[in-house]
Amino acid sequence: MIIQLKNNIDAEQKKAIINKVNSFNYEANEVLTQKGTYLIGIGSKEFDIRQIGNLSGIADIHIVSDSYKLVSRKWKVVPSAVDLGDGIAIGDGSLAIMAGPCSIEGEEQILETIGHLKANGIKMMRGGVYKPRSSPYAFRGMGIEGLQLWYKHAKAAGMKIVTEVMQVSQIEPMLEYTDVFQVGARNTQNFNLLDALGQIDKAVMIKRGISGTIDELLYSAEYVFSGGNEKLILCERGIRTYETASRNTLDLNAIPILKEKTHLPVVSDPSHGIGIRRHVEPLALASIMAGADGIIYETHSNPYKAFSDGQQTLDFRESEQMIRKMRATFELLKSF
Ligand code: PEP
Ligand code: MN
Repeated sequence: MIIQLKNNIDAEQKKAIINKVNSFNYEANEVLTQKGTYLIGIGSKEFDIRQIGNLSGIADIHIVSDSYKLVSRKWKVVPSAVDLGDGIAIGDGSLAIMAGPCSIEGEEQILETIGHLKANGIKMMRGGVYKPRSSPYAFRGMGIEGLQLWYKHAKAAGMKIVTEVMQVSQIEPMLEYTDVFQVGARNTQNFNLLDALGQIDKAVMIKRGISGTIDELLYSAEYVFSGGNEKLILCERGIRTYETASRNTLDLNAIPILKEKTHLPVVSDPSHGIGIRRHVEPLALASIMAGADGIIYETHSNPYKAFSDGQQTLDFRESEQMIRKMRATFELLKSF
């Protein structure tokens, strides 16, 4: 059960609602986000919610049978959009495109990438400054100095920054420079990190765990939402299966299933999803057809020299072509 409280509710009214909820043997968890205050009722007994709904101070009340609540579409039927400011949003009915290198490598690369994205009307740039690498000897990112350098140029170009946060202690220093905090596939169930991201007022994009189910991804989002942050985006980035012909298996099924289960925007990452450059484009187009709100992918001026994930990274010519095809696909879908 989700009870949305009126903004002007007083303490007495709130207490009366909580008492009523408790009287049905339901626990009432209070959640305060950027957009509202909610009481999440957790219990099992069935009862007529009108017995609560007629109390004063309630804006809205819903029974949500899913075990995740706030992210469920059973509560909020209308899709949620995440607004990054300056007219840039994810899930607002436009196609969100986020592109950039796997890793931020230096000033020249930052500038070339911004130039490429700007020339193609892309306003969200991805890139890692903290890189989760399988080997400890691989390049692990430029860290906060890399992010500050990137921010300086991104801000001047009106470009939003999408970048991975790997641990709680990085959030505070990154805050000023980051528009979308990416939770990587290796951290989808890092509940301390999710709790901490619930405390901030910046967008969070949660990637699906390498071996994570769709429901586990939704629970991870519920952590952030119930912590107080509604600015959430989900990302399908491929899962580990028995297949060895590709790096991961992009689970296209997850896109319509997630769109049905949650009101949150869903984006697809075909780069990590298949891990093979020449197959990124068809998977991006298929993701759009499957209903994705956006695509995040890797591009670099010279993928052969990229510090990480070059094998799945598009060069700018390939990227430009894919942008054109993605937009055409999106328009085609809308025209049906
Ligand atoms: C990335 O986006 O570069 C990345 C490391 O992604 P993932 O967490 O999906 O592996
Ligand atoms: Mn990568």
